Amino acid sequence: MALHTLQTPIEYLKGVGPQRAELLKKELGIFIFNDLLHYYPFRYIDRTRFYKIRELHEELPAVQVIGRITAKEIIGEKRSKRLVARFKDETGSIELVWFQGIRWIDKIVQPGLVFIAFGKPNSFNNNISIVHPELELYNPKTKKTGNLMLQPVYSSTEKLKQYSLDSKGIQRLTAELMPLVTSETEETLPDYILVKHKLTGRTNALINIHFPAGTAELEAARRRLKFEELFAIQLKLLKNKLLRTQKFKGLIFEKVGDKFNTFYSEKLPFALTNAQKRVVKEIRQDTQRGTQMNRLLQGDVGSGKTVVALMSMLLALDNGFQACMMAPTEILAQQHYQSLLNLLGKDYVRIGLLTGSTSRKKRNQLLAELENGQLDILVGTHALIEDTVKFKNLGLAVIDEQHRFGVEQRAKLWKKNHIPPHVLVMTATPIPRTLAMTLYGDLDVSVINELPAGRKPINTIHFYENQRLRMFGLMRQEIAKGRQVYIVYPLIKESEKLDLLHLEAGIEAISREFPLPDYRISIVHGKLKPADKEFEMQRFVKGETQIMVATTVIEVGVNVPNASVMVIENAERFGLSQLHQLRGRVGRGAEQSYCILMSGNKLSREARIRLETMVRSSDGFEISEIDLQLRGPGDIEGTQQSGVLNLKLADLASDQQLLQEARQTVIGIFEEDPELTLEKNKRLYSFFRQGKGITWDKIS
Ligand code: ADP
Ligand code: MG
Repeated sequence: MALHTLQTPIEYLKGVGPQRAELLKKELGIFIFNDLLHYYPFRYIDRTRFYKIRELHEELPAVQVIGRITAKEIIGEKRSKRLVARFKDETGSIELVWFQGIRWIDKIVQPGLVFIAFGKPNSFNNNISIVHPELELYNPKTKKTGNLMLQPVYSSTEKLKQYSLDSKGIQRLTAELMPLVTSETEETLPDYILVKHKLTGRTNALINIHFPAGTAELEAARRRLKFEELFAIQLKLLKNKLLRTQKFKGLIFEKVGDKFNTFYSEKLPFALTNAQKRVVKEIRQDTQRGTQMNRLLQGDVGSGKTVVALMSMLLALDNGFQACMMAPTEILAQQHYQSLLNLLGKDYVRIGLLTGSTSRKKRNQLLAELENGQLDILVGTHALIEDTVKFKNLGLAVIDEQHRFGVEQRAKLWKKNHIPPHVLVMTATPIPRTLAMTLYGDLDVSVINELPAGRKPINTIHFYENQRLRMFGLMRQEIAKGRQVYIVYPLIKESEKLDLLHLEAGIEAISREFPLPDYRISIVHGKLKPADKEFEMQRFVKGETQIMVATTVIEVGVNVPNASVMVIENAERFGLSQLHQLRGRVGRGAEQSYCILMSGNKLSREARIRLETMVRSSDGFEISEIDLQLRGPGDIEGTQQSGVLNLKLADLASDQQLLQEARQTVIGIFEEDPELTLEKNKRLYSFFRQGKGITWDKIS
């Protein structure tokens, strides 16, 4: 095949050349024509209509207005010196303001002249103004044709701008590019899918995304390209799932044996919720089928995922296999280890703990026992996936708090047995449906949608700094009842020193307010050695201290049912899922619990929404949806390794419907044609050829 124009190095596009090519590569990752073709505008300036002055308000983006200059003056001194012109149409008047280039603007802006002014309306003291508008002398003849369009805006960088590659410069390049490549852009989706989902052709979509013929055409282009993005991810995910179930034999846990039964009838200290029972049953069915299980277990904080994991591991043991459980932090791994020991006792199951701080000697012993089969269950951090860790016969791997582990880490566990072990992945907090479908789209999903009986909803209160005394009051009241209190400080890497100062000041204030000998305080933060951390935690767990002051190290997994108050300092600095996680540390006993969100008086809009959401809702699934809307997937843990961030247009918060449509389409395709051998599905192979930056392929 001849080299396609699309593969031409960007240097050879008219208007680029070696120097700019270098910059385009470095700054935007544009190497060849095809890259530029897929460098989409991030928004469009609406030049399709003219606004009347009466219609202007602050919420509008940049708009264009036709009006007459009626007056102007230069006011202010030095840095506040500005030229202000009155700009009027038949519906009202606004101010146009310039701080720079005054002398030059002064010559152009003459009372009596009619201009098209273009810019974003601001509001100051109820007066609307536009600062530094673009001006164009109004010519009645061009009004109808001239500027009537959606102008693409491309993001650029300072360096590129120095070489005239601002948004307009990039637009000039795409204008050069389009005529050269549109004959080569191939359709990727089968015709019958285009028809069924009313999608426009790919070439047409690419043209209109850069040069929209109108609003409707742009919308159609965006929809088509979004669909394709979502479709590509789903195709790969579901293909992997298919491969897995078809090609790999799965271990068979044929029976329920003594270990499971004894635990269930003699050791389990509570009745399982219906949701827990259902999930155990699902896992039981999965592991009998003869195909490998890959299941995601979603459940809100405190919904009781650990015991489900434990029972699944016992199932593995009953069938002569080993099991392991991987947690993202040392503390959490220790907690799991402890709670497994507590639940099981030492007599019939041998459990080991392996983390980064396990001594070499202990470690060697563990590894030996693991390999000769003396050890039944290994709990640990990602130390578990190191190559030196070899099992005799690993049957089930449980991964807790999955969203901290990447897809590739998950895949590494598969290799710990000659037939891949069953895998149960548990999330710390619920994740939005769309994200689950893309991050874990190759997994089956179980949901625990029910909390154990008898839990009282946690009372969440937001206090401003000046209400701190009320917070102290509540703490005192609860401690007097024999309860315990967490106080959590944020820790943000960029200013670790500052955070530590905050923490120290906080500790001092708390110690003054809650002095010895009546009150005792545990202090836990990231700078402590693991052993010291553990010691402090244990004091709190045993009830020797009533207050635990901590940075977010306690975020995941700590379980102290007697704790009834969670105070979160600088709550405005935490993300929603973190707040929800932290709140989940209390409310584990039968008594009323409280979560107190302390914040400064000044809150950003987003912070306010976060705190309001926490006060209003205790539903982890709802909270996760709002989190996604506020932050986008980029900041949500776990997305970095997925294909989600390669999405250029699709938005997991707002494109739920389209994602659902794409996924259903792919499911339908594989049901009818699992090997993709039908003529009508031929084009689908193009998706497996591209796959830039998506790592799914490595798994299977
Ligand atoms: P998470 O789903 O957040 O990991 P855990 O597994 O840590 O939750 O369980 C939270 C607490 O609820 C633990 O103390 C656990 O023993 C308890 N628990 C779990 N299931 C039940 C149940 N069915 N009835 C009563 N308490 C339960
Ligand atoms: Mg847990």
